Amino acid sequence: MPRRVPVLIVGGGPVGLALAGELGWRGIACELVEQTDGAIVAPKMNEVNARSMEICRRWGIADRVFNCPFPADFPLDVAFVTSLSGHELSRLPRPGRNSQQPVPESPHRMQACSQIWFDPILKDFAASFPGVRLRYRCRLDAFTQSATGVTAQLSDLAGGQTEQIEADYLVGCDGAGSLVRRALGIEIMGEGTIGHPINLFFRAPNLIERCGKKPATFFLGIDQTGLWGSLRIIDPVNGLWRLMIDSTDGNATPETVDREFYLRRALGGSFAVEWVDVNIWRRRSALAQRYGRDRVHLAGDAVHQLSPTGGMGMNTGVADAADIGWKLAAVLDGWGGAGLLESYDRERRPVGARAVRMATWFYKNAENFPKSSAALGEDSADGARLRSTIGQELLRAIGPEFRTVGLQLGYRYEGSPICVPDGTPEPPDDPAEVTPSARPGSRAPHVTLRDGRSILDLYGRGFVLLRFGGAPDGLAIEQAARQRRVPLQCVGLDEPPAAALYERKLVLVRPDGHVAWRADAPPVDALAMIDRVRGAGHESAR
Ligand SMILES: Cc1cc2nc3c(=O)[nH]c(=O)nc-3n(C[C@H](O)[C@H](O)[C@H](O)COP(=O)(O)OP(=O)(O)OC[C@H]3O[C@@H](n4cnc5c(N)ncnc54)[C@H](O)[C@@H]3O)c2cc1C
Repeated sequence: MPRRVPVLIVGGGPVGLALAGELGWRGIACELVEQTDGAIVAPKMNEVNARSMEICRRWGIADRVFNCPFPADFPLDVAFVTSLSGHELSRLPRPGRNSQQPVPESPHRMQACSQIWFDPILKDFAASFPGVRLRYRCRLDAFTQSATGVTAQLSDLAGGQTEQIEADYLVGCDGAGSLVRRALGIEIMGEGTIGHPINLFFRAPNLIERCGKKPATFFLGIDQTGLWGSLRIIDPVNGLWRLMIDSTDGNATPETVDREFYLRRALGGSFAVEWVDVNIWRRRSALAQRYGRDRVHLAGDAVHQLSPTGGMGMNTGVADAADIGWKLAAVLDGWGGAGLLESYDRERRPVGARAVRMATWFYKNAENFPKSSAALGEDSADGARLRSTIGQELLRAIGPEFRTVGLQLGYRYEGSPICVPDGTPEPPDDPAEVTPSARPGSRAPHVTLRDGRSILDLYGRGFVLLRFGGAPDGLAIEQAARQRRVPLQCVGLDEPPAAALYERKLVLVRPDGHVAWRADAPPVDALAMIDRVRGAGHESAR
């Protein structure tokens, strides 16, 4: 008889690992299969955004991400340069984490933490749960599903054996080429490939000092052809860099790329470096038609493929994992209704579309940035004037890519079948600014409580019914939740700033920290409300 697991996760990139951790944290056993050995030679992701940090906070690992080896005093500035040893046109200051002031919208900010550190933190977190099994060098070859489960064929790539395994649910976190998505016959829609960048990884300690620049994390290279590439310091301590070349014809191969040419162009001279890797990839703008079918779901790059401009790819995938994770746990624990898993697509797909749209817009702002003249690099008064003008223009045109707190925290589940709308209008969706809101569907906003905790620290395990000063009792809601075996904790708060922000006396927050319902009085039919937020609205209406 094949073994049976509650959840089989395909893919051990950051999204699969995040899902394994989320399920383990909720006490759900799962098995993750990853075809590689998990080593990261050419890291993609470098920025863990504020929402991912809040999710890590819930899991108890935010401090580990915060204290990753990226130096605390290293500025996260973005500088526009003719080359690393050439002229600096302008700079967007972004303080390193030691100099960051607290912000009102979140206990966290975006964190520089490359995948070389983030993935191992997620892996350790997931592996800390006895019910989570992580299998490297293990590949999913095929699967079928029926009304009662999924049967998957696996290959152990180290030993050469094949194996059949059964699962209640399968989640494909298997990246852009997703076998799981293709096997489900789900199309990927959108512009598709919008560029063929080349990433060159190299080591060069003290390069910034050697090139006479003030420290920054990101140097965007501009010459008379426009913005042509970028240099990013991934690990300042060990001098690990990534040079990304945007304007290529897509015909290069790792063997034919003239690395030294691009390096000289980026650095403005010849510098000895230790080459680490060459990686040619496709910049994409695409979204899957749907996020799964029946017992098989998809998350991360398997469903949304977006330009890294704006740093939203993995971060959107981590939030996918947090959404599907609590829903799978609820269904496997027996209190989630038949519509709960269906709501995953309804809630997350529009968020994926928003991320794809914004990332593509950011990229096109850079791609279409006007060409200038050779004077840009000249040591002359004309050159200085031109650099000053273009420097300001760059801050205006490209700056929004680096001011995205609204994009990170302002997404919401509009029209979700498991949230109860309260008739209030949608707040603005501005990528640069977040309008904190406890309107159903929104991320329940952060506020610091009297004891210094974030209100977000109350959320996570089950539903939380907040009762602000003078609220009617929540007994009917608690009783309905008990009747349906929905985990719910009632928390009374005498906290005027929080009460003002949340705007209603009773606010029901879901296990993922999104608002499900709010009002000044208990609902007329508390059982119907609880059924709706647990995904059994249709069942109770029958
Ligand atoms: C240059 C660059 C910079 C980026 N910077 C950022 C950033 O700063 N912030 C951000 O949020 N995002 C960023 N991204 C995007 C981010 O890297 C991706 O969105 C993220 O890696 C997606 O994670 P994933 O787990 O969904 O997929 P992947 O990372 O692609 O992982 C999928 C995994 O599935 C495995 N797999 C596939 N098929 C099978 C199979 N059949 N059986 C077993 N295993 C399988 C693969 O081996 C792989 O390990 C960047 C991307 C690039 C290219």
